[in-house]
Amino acid sequence: MIKTSGFPVTKVAESKLNSLSLENIPFGKYFSDHMFMATYKNGAWQDPQILPYQPLHIEPSLAALHYGQAIFEGIKAYKHSSGEAFIFRPYDNFKRFNLSAERMCMPEVPEYIFMDGMHQLLAIDKDWIPAKAEHSLYIRPVMFATDVALGVRPSETYAFIIMLSPTGPYYAKPMKIYVEETYTRAVKGGVGFAKNAGNYGGSMMAAKKANELGYDQVLWTDAIEHKWLQEVGMMNVVFIIDNKAITPSLEEGTILNGVTRNSVLVLLQEMGIAVEERKINIDEVIAAYKNGTLQEVFGTGTAATIALIKELRYKDEQMLFDTEKWKVAPAVREKLNQIRYGLVPDVHEWLYKI
Ligand code: PMP
Repeated sequence: MIKTSGFPVTKVAESKLNSLSLENIPFGKYFSDHMFMATYKNGAWQDPQILPYQPLHIEPSLAALHYGQAIFEGIKAYKHSSGEAFIFRPYDNFKRFNLSAERMCMPEVPEYIFMDGMHQLLAIDKDWIPAKAEHSLYIRPVMFATDVALGVRPSETYAFIIMLSPTGPYYAKPMKIYVEETYTRAVKGGVGFAKNAGNYGGSMMAAKKANELGYDQVLWTDAIEHKWLQEVGMMNVVFIIDNKAITPSLEEGTILNGVTRNSVLVLLQEMGIAVEERKINIDEVIAAYKNGTLQEVFGTGTAATIALIKELRYKDEQMLFDTEKWKVAPAVREKLNQIRYGLVPDVHEWLYKI
């Protein structure tokens, strides 16, 4: 049973909305009036509450800063033209958050903290969900180790916080992608399937080098042969080859189990496109490009929804695409947006009402 009230609330004296327009607001720069916070100590979650968004006071020895026990999630809420607000598939993020927690030896966050906390926070800061096409409210839950002591071991104390950041349209222009063959994001037995902070810090060098070469992001490959494809930047990747959708499978634990990926795979099947979740390597992609069966390639993720890829570069092979002619990726993006903004019935029950 989800409670929409019940946690103690300390409200701001004056809303920041009085001096801020949400129209075309950039991603991740502004935060709503309130945040949800709970702490973990003595083996139990304590003091769940909603309070004004504010700085934290931390000691330099804070365990998260040194040993990387820090995980997060990214979720979006949308306002429909009726004025009602909905979150897109938050239970999937809740489950993924606890998988990340388990992998990082962090305590599980119970449903009443994650889901009820998010629900009550959104109910209080509902006016922060922009009521405009292509705008949304980004929800960022985060958990980190708070022991104040050095020494590599799982922390005994943690903080869990949910913050909200309104965001305008994400102009996902078609991307140029460099197929990475030096750096590696994830290996079998590693932490690739978890949304832990270190995965992001560790990926920046490859993205920076790709940028220097004129590319927007990298397509991650396996650590041994640098041929088996994983993810594109911070998105899952889908190839349309010979009218089938092919995406790397999850079983090796090297890629994030994307909520957008799963939604897109369902929609593609409903569009009559066969879906294959399996291992795929760059040689197969190059062969399909050369024989004309590689039709589309795109990334999927909460931030961009669907990001088209107009160039793939692997060693000396340059694969160029005329994304203007594509049918599948734009159609699936449109379908997903119609669901999120309530323009079609939510037959999949992906929307969670605030
Ligand atoms: N891969 C990585 C590494 C990511 O950070 C994200 C964004 N959370 C995704 C894929 C896409 O996942 P989702 O569709 O759940 O946003």
